[in-house]
Amino acid sequence: MKCPTCGLENSNEPFKSWQFGTYLVKRVKCSECGENFNIYVGEGKSFTIPKRIDGDLSGK
Ligand SMILES: [Zn+2]
Repeated sequence: MKCPTCGLENSNEPFKSWQFGTYLVKRVKCSECGENFNIYVGEGKSFTIPKRIDGDLSGK
């Protein structure tokens, strides 16, 4: 999962996860910039919060 702040591909294990409605939320700390971000994993889709800032809204 790419860090939404610096764009580095992280393979870090989430240090926290919880259920949010139909989503499983994982809290990951980027090993490059140290920023924390959430990964939302739902049925057939996943996204990060905060979103990528480079305009990639294609839903990957
Ligand atoms: Zn980062």
